[in-house]
Amino acid sequence: MSLIQGATGEWEIVLGLEIHAQITSQSKLMSGASTKFGAEPNSQVSLVDAAMPGMLPVVNEFCYEQAVLTGLGLNAEINLVSIFDRKNYFYPDLPQGYQISQFTDPIVGPGVVKIELPDGSFHDVGIERLHLEQDAGKSIHDLYPSQSCVDLNRSGVALMEIVSDPDMRTAEHAKLYVSKIRTILRYLGTCDGNMEQGSLRADVNVSVRRPGAELGTRCEIKNMNSIRNIGMAIEYEARRQVDIIEDGGTIAQETRLWDVAKGETRSMRSKEEAHDYRYFPDPDLLPVVLEQSWVDAIKARIPELPDAKHGRLMRQYGLNSYDANILIADPENADYFEIVAKGVDAKLAVNWVTGDLFGMLNKRGFTIETSPIKAEALGELVGLITDKTISNKIAKQVFEFMLETGDAPTKIVEEKGLKQVTDTGAIEKAVDEVIAANPDKVEQVKQKPKMAGWFVGQVMQATGGKANPQAVSDLIKAKLGLED
Ligand code: MN
Repeated sequence: MSLIQGATGEWEIVLGLEIHAQITSQSKLMSGASTKFGAEPNSQVSLVDAAMPGMLPVVNEFCYEQAVLTGLGLNAEINLVSIFDRKNYFYPDLPQGYQISQFTDPIVGPGVVKIELPDGSFHDVGIERLHLEQDAGKSIHDLYPSQSCVDLNRSGVALMEIVSDPDMRTAEHAKLYVSKIRTILRYLGTCDGNMEQGSLRADVNVSVRRPGAELGTRCEIKNMNSIRNIGMAIEYEARRQVDIIEDGGTIAQETRLWDVAKGETRSMRSKEEAHDYRYFPDPDLLPVVLEQSWVDAIKARIPELPDAKHGRLMRQYGLNSYDANILIADPENADYFEIVAKGVDAKLAVNWVTGDLFGMLNKRGFTIETSPIKAEALGELVGLITDKTISNKIAKQVFEFMLETGDAPTKIVEEKGLKQVTDTGAIEKAVDEVIAANPDKVEQVKQKPKMAGWFVGQVMQATGGKANPQAVSDLIKAKLGLED
């Protein structure tokens, strides 16, 4: 399943990921400048971020807390002593001439993340480390024909680099892993996970080998900011490597880019040009020494994480794993569902949330937070179905009216007279009329009992869809002498 077929036999893909996640914080890692997205270029740059001579960095304690919280959420070890290093390289968007990062002693050590595969089985992905570092600025080459510009707003923004072990074997694994990391960070509130804005981006290391053989030479695909593209880039890159090896060539270790338009990876820089970063401890920053009690206090703040929520939703509401997975993808989804499900049929509630509601949100360009139908209102609607005031079918009409008018479902049902008719006298009258009007069908249904559904449809139509379908069906069967 996880192997790819080449001309000379099967190959195994080996994948390791480095995820850069922007920490949710008001100010930068080493300065007080704002991190707000979308500001005027160079309007959020302190003297530290611009690397003016003599400026001294000061560690943002909140960013440190966020990194520790993330490490705990990834079931990882927290290192009580961590050290900031300078990673030296020259680039126009890096005014310091080095990035402050952590090399020998990162804040977070080994951990593990569990992904659930489509067949319901689980796969563990090891986390090697998580370190804190500064983001660089941004070079802009397409604003003027003969000039390049630099925007330093992003310079110095706090990043967590999460490095996985080479534990993934398929593009699907990598996609699930990124999605799981993103979900965990969003639950923790340590990164907003907005991939379009670049808050979360991944470098993907791809190599191929014969099953069970030594690791092959890897290529790194840089700066992927869409889960879908990650999947496509891996499949393209693995196939490219297999073809080269099978043609007698060797893989050159290099950094590659994914070209979205062409659907291919292409070389960015080879190992010969690779940087020697000459890391050394930043002399402006002391080692960070944490107290265990400080870490424990952060641990006490961890909210219910996706895996735990998944299990609880299944136990508490009797949901299947598939539905639970849809709900936990976003903490807001699960919160919304739990409000809807209060005191109503939970299976009905999950169908309404993941079906009608999500469909409407998608179609109209809303998110769960901006939904025009609030959880309490949808809960009221599902309650009306649960207690048989209206049928599921009428509820779909009420849902539309709710969207149109913003009125409460109970009010709509009252005003429009949509209450389900459970009064057997009224239903019986309608049933008798349909039977009397269709003697030929009555003959047919006695041969083919499945045709009873046609009578139910007629009666439902005659009652404007308000009759209780089960009551109608029972009455028709009784009147026509059909077995159940
Ligand atoms: Mn990095």
